[in-house]
Amino acid sequence: MQDRFVKSITQLPEPLANALVPLLGQDFAGHIDAQQLTELQAASGLSEKEMLLALLPIAATMAETPISHFNVGAIAKGKSGDIYMGANLELTGEALCHSVHAEQSAISHAWLSGEQQIVDIVVNYSPCGHCRQFMNELVQGQSIRIHLPGQDVHPLSHYLPYGFSPADLGVKEPLLTKQQIDIEIDSDDPMVIEALDQAGLSYAPYTQAHAAVVLETKDGRTYCGRYAENAAYNPSMMPMQMALSCLKRHNRDYDEINRAVLIESSKGVISLVGATMDALHAIAAVELEHIVVEPA
Ligand SMILES: [Zn+2]
Repeated sequence: MQDRFVKSITQLPEPLANALVPLLGQDFAGHIDAQQLTELQAASGLSEKEMLLALLPIAATMAETPISHFNVGAIAKGKSGDIYMGANLELTGEALCHSVHAEQSAISHAWLSGEQQIVDIVVNYSPCGHCRQFMNELVQGQSIRIHLPGQDVHPLSHYLPYGFSPADLGVKEPLLTKQQIDIEIDSDDPMVIEALDQAGLSYAPYTQAHAAVVLETKDGRTYCGRYAENAAYNPSMMPMQMALSCLKRHNRDYDEINRAVLIESSKGVISLVGATMDALHAIAAVELEHIVVEPA
């Protein structure tokens, strides 16, 4: 088991903790598949809702909160039945707009793993307005069930009545819909190719600024983030923040970052390069490799 879970595992009911420990090896980054979940639930003797709430201290352990010291954990359950953990992230000394909320971390984790719909969000504090708006961008967003400690389960429509949604701006394929933008580049650099593939899967219906970031650590592992826009603009999730959140879920340190690549489409009416450099320079002494590509 990874050292970071030593404290939080003691907060779980003992049968659940015992069944979970074998899953918390070096590669664990918050993903538990449907089969593992069924086995955990049988061993725990809990209902699924009770078990997911009980797992939140494990998710919250992945938080990086140098400013607030307030750790939030969230779990997104995908339509596949798999669950994806997420936690909040802040950048030391930087503007609060660089922060990632736990729900965004969990949802982006599910998206990067190929989920096309979120059916449940489990979180240890009531979702803030920013996250309610972020979730309203998702496929069937209004129907997502929100699970909170000590509360009845309600759909997002209960927490965000009269919500402003992608449909209000004429967007018919919301976030997590499988869509692929065709962008090409002549490169044999695996990091550039990975960033290009991820940028093709990014979600930028309001600016067409399709973009992705790939971070490489010194051991050659890569962690990526896609751009995820929002109809209300500000709850958009930057690709660098999504990649940093992924890096932290994998228990990696910023000083392990070796290279950072941002790919963006030349068709965007905005550029993410300034915001991406600000975030990168706050955490690592690495220069951003910025590549602008022409969509097909
Ligand atoms: Zn939030």
